[in-house]
Amino acid sequence: MHILKPQLKAAYLPIISLLGFAILYHSAIQIPSFPNKLDLLFILLLAAISQLVASTSNLEHVQAYEVGSAIGMATIPIYGPFGAALAGAASGFGIWLAKINKYRIWKDSIQVVCFNIGMFSVSMLIAGWVFVAIQNQFELVSFPDLIIPWVVAAIVNDQLNLFILAGVLRFEQGVDINLKDYWQENLWAAVINIAIASLGGGLLSSAMRLFGWKGIAIFFMPIILSSFSFRLYVRQMQSHLDNLESIIAERTHTLQDLMKEKDAFLAVLTHDMKSPLTSIGIYVDMIRKFPNLPIQKPHSIETIASSQQSLLNIVNNILDLEKLQIEGGIPLDKTVFDLIPTIESTVESLRLQATRKNIHLQFEPETLSVNLTGDQHQIERVMHNLLSNAVKYTPKEGNICVSLQVQMEKICLQVTDTGYGIPAEELPFIFDRYRRVPGHERLAVGTGLGLAITKGIVEAHGGEISVESENEVGSTFTVMLPL
Ligand code: ADP
Repeated sequence: MHILKPQLKAAYLPIISLLGFAILYHSAIQIPSFPNKLDLLFILLLAAISQLVASTSNLEHVQAYEVGSAIGMATIPIYGPFGAALAGAASGFGIWLAKINKYRIWKDSIQVVCFNIGMFSVSMLIAGWVFVAIQNQFELVSFPDLIIPWVVAAIVNDQLNLFILAGVLRFEQGVDINLKDYWQENLWAAVINIAIASLGGGLLSSAMRLFGWKGIAIFFMPIILSSFSFRLYVRQMQSHLDNLESIIAERTHTLQDLMKEKDAFLAVLTHDMKSPLTSIGIYVDMIRKFPNLPIQKPHSIETIASSQQSLLNIVNNILDLEKLQIEGGIPLDKTVFDLIPTIESTVESLRLQATRKNIHLQFEPETLSVNLTGDQHQIERVMHNLLSNAVKYTPKEGNICVSLQVQMEKICLQVTDTGYGIPAEELPFIFDRYRRVPGHERLAVGTGLGLAITKGIVEAHGGEISVESENEVGSTFTVMLPL
């Protein structure tokens, strides 16, 4: 069954409420003829209280599991359909009582309580009539036989409630509901509620007949306790569902971020590949037209070679990034080599680029030779990435200094520049892939992959990389490698 939302207006609700009150009026005038009026009062009280432990699950339409109907069912054989309708009304009142904090406006609150009382008494009265009709038809008297009318009455009661609520969704809240889907959605709740109502109702009724109010009290306890534990179970399931939903939302968010990252990367990549490819194209065209060009202007071959090198670097960076992500690290081809000449040759390979910007580039090793066990080619890439960054992000007339020290079984390599620097808020993320300092894309082309790969290589060697930088003053990248 469903619990009502508070936005209730217009005609549908008053009709159900009025029907309910007409039934209540008719029931009230029958009260003097009812046997054991105190027992009835007790039962009505329980019907209202039992709804305080009803459990609801926040599926697409709120579903409720409750024992109020069981109490209504139990009253039918003793107090007849109108007595059951009274119990139904008490249940409706109990549901409203359990949710009273939800309603901020008293008008909504009154509408809900009237509707609840109306719906529960209408469905319980009709269920009661069905029960009595079957009972009379087959002349059923005692408990095991009466289970058949109880089950049928419980089905009628449950389904009537369900469809009256479908009316609320349809007429009051304008939800375009498909009755078949709606019915299927509620099927499990319906089966549970019908089982509770018919079996619980049967047991409670027999207890009432045999032991009066004491029987009600004794049998009501296990029913209410099981309802309470079911409520706890439903809440737990609900919190699991909520957890799952938040995990899914988080993952979707991460996935969206990754997609954005990928789009941004593709944009940068195509942009970066375009200029070397265009240079190569222009020079190849010129060499086709003027085959003597490489002899007359040797720098044309240099330009083609450096463009090809840029493209190769980009492709290598992408491939290495894949390795970092998929294979968990860059594979190393380890040998023992002297680090000093390795660094010297990298420094020399970038000297021309530095000289073009009038940048003073120097290498100051503390020792003449240091043997390192590692992948020479990858260590060259580390140096190349750090140095080419220093050249790219240092303005004309700047200084770049590479230093090397051996400290306690560790090699400390530093690349210091007097460049644009990195703002403090960017420093924690500077080794993340695709990360670039905002504004630096205007200073130099780059993919934001170099530092991520550099870190991967250093860590694959058991080392560490860190950076200190001040905006518009300069940066120092420090690599510590174990000897
Ligand atoms: P790329 O240089 O290809 O963009 P990197 O991963 O090598 O990628 O560097 C990431 C970003 O870090 C650069 O885009 C730049 O903003 C910043 N950066 C790296 N080195 C320096 C440096 N020496 N001085 C200032 N900024 C730097």
